[in-house]
Amino acid sequence: MSISRILIANRGEIALRIHRAAHEMGIETVAVHSTADADAMHVRLADHAVCIGPPSATDSYLNHAAIISAAEVSGADAIHPGYGFLSENAKFAEIVEAHNIAWIGPKPEHIRTMGDKVEAKRTAGALGIPLVPGSDGAVSDPEEAKKIAADIGYPVIIKAASGGGGRGMKVCESEDKLASLMQAAGNEAKSAFGDATVYIEKYLGNPRHIEFQVFGDGKGNAIHLGERDCSLQRRHQKVLEEAPSPIISDEERERMGDVCAQAMRDMGYRGAGTIEFLWENGEFYFIEMNTRLQVEHPVTEAITGVDLVREQIRIADGKPLSVAQDELEFRGHAIECRINAEDPFTFAPSPGEVTYYHAAGGLHVRVDSGLYAGYRIPPYYDSMIAKLIVYGRTREGCIMRLRRALEEMVVEGVKTNIPLHQELLRQKDVLHGDYSIKWLEEWLEQREG
Ligand code: ADP
Repeated sequence: MSISRILIANRGEIALRIHRAAHEMGIETVAVHSTADADAMHVRLADHAVCIGPPSATDSYLNHAAIISAAEVSGADAIHPGYGFLSENAKFAEIVEAHNIAWIGPKPEHIRTMGDKVEAKRTAGALGIPLVPGSDGAVSDPEEAKKIAADIGYPVIIKAASGGGGRGMKVCESEDKLASLMQAAGNEAKSAFGDATVYIEKYLGNPRHIEFQVFGDGKGNAIHLGERDCSLQRRHQKVLEEAPSPIISDEERERMGDVCAQAMRDMGYRGAGTIEFLWENGEFYFIEMNTRLQVEHPVTEAITGVDLVREQIRIADGKPLSVAQDELEFRGHAIECRINAEDPFTFAPSPGEVTYYHAAGGLHVRVDSGLYAGYRIPPYYDSMIAKLIVYGRTREGCIMRLRRALEEMVVEGVKTNIPLHQELLRQKDVLHGDYSIKWLEEWLEQREG
């Protein structure tokens, strides 16, 4: 089999990203779009385009039947789901494969396993990945929970098995509140995800978010492509990401990277994946695995020179990994700023017409975006409108270049968070790489006060 036409089941910058990789490989693309996205750049650039429904994502980008029909009528032989939307939907992946269409993503059973947090933790533990100490699976009995919490020590965090987006999580400081907080977390999870199952973990006070990029060929070979540090977050949303992490040594990268790659070999994992950890005092603690391409993948591309989307397509086509672990070199430093159409300090979304647009450029500056002057940013979807990725030989050089690139970038007609990034890149802690996942919110609070 050889993939010749890919349907891109996504929108925005990631749809463009996939289109670019496909065209460089001589593969045609099919864009799908809602009525709100008829004028979007991903639709303009693709070889074919199919409208799949009204603006609401439920009726368009999440509509299984409409997307499968679009693939059938356009003669696509593969589907790339991008990130978000259907990318981690095991059922959809199965439907795609049942239609003899190549799924550019992991095996459905692996998507399913990692989508259930209790199951994911159990699997990761069995594969030798270090875990946050906590309950061995789900807990429903408050008395049992009290024993576990006393054992690992307070504070603990109660988390929903079906959780996502930080919902169904409660931090508990002491035993007297445990039963009621378990009840509250369970109720929240039940109404958000239809599943009240919860589990307990030690609550880490001031961790960093460090994730490893992995890739498997589905046949037992796998590699890691180093880590990304995504500790600068607001409400669990990443704002700026970098690779390598300023606090991980070459030895640590090699050691943890090997643990991750070996786990993927043992699983027979296929395609791109990210193993997410909290890191505190030199220890890694697994929190979850994302079975898809990540928004922040370009920083890894910048320091390794590997095109991750090309790699995904090759693997879905049954080809081997294009690089071996010992051929991979990590060189220099890369930082990505997520540019959102929102107020830089209140974070209120700011959709509307872009009246003027000038992308930053120059050596080692990459802008992934579907923006153009006259484009109307629809109010229905995510507010991220561009990613600015900058590379430098050193972290310091990278930051200098990033400041220069942010100065050049002009988006008029809507508000963007460019001023937030500019201010962040003047903060001592950021310059020194000295920040945890709490840093950004604490800084914003101080700035307010
Ligand atoms: P979700 O899938 O809902 O995003 P995660 O398990 O990825 O849930 O956790 C989201 C965020 O919650 C983490 O990035 C971290 O900020 C916080 N968190 C999760 N587990 C812990 C923990 N054990 N200790 C401290 N913070 C945690």
